[in-house]
Amino acid sequence: MKPNFSFCPICENNKIKKKSGNFEFLIEKKKIVVPDITFFICTDCKEKFTDVENEIKIDDFIKLAKRKNAA
Ligand SMILES: [Zn+2]
Repeated sequence: MKPNFSFCPICENNKIKKKSGNFEFLIEKKKIVVPDITFFICTDCKEKFTDVENEIKIDDFIKLAKRKNAA
C-alpha cells in the first residue's frame, strides 16, 4: 500500500498538490536538486514532502553527491 497524503503533516490542511519533477531542498546550506521525484506540496505552508519510495531515491542521491564531493 502506498501512502497517500491527503493532509499536510505540518499544518494539517488538505491543500495538497501532487507533483513530479525536480525536488529542490537545502542541505548544509547547499541547494540540492534531485530530478525525477514524485512529491507533494502543501499550497498553504509550502512544505514539500515525499513518500518512502521517493525518500529513498533522495537519500541515495545525497549519498552519491557526498561521495562525489569527497573525491
Ligand atoms: Zn501545510
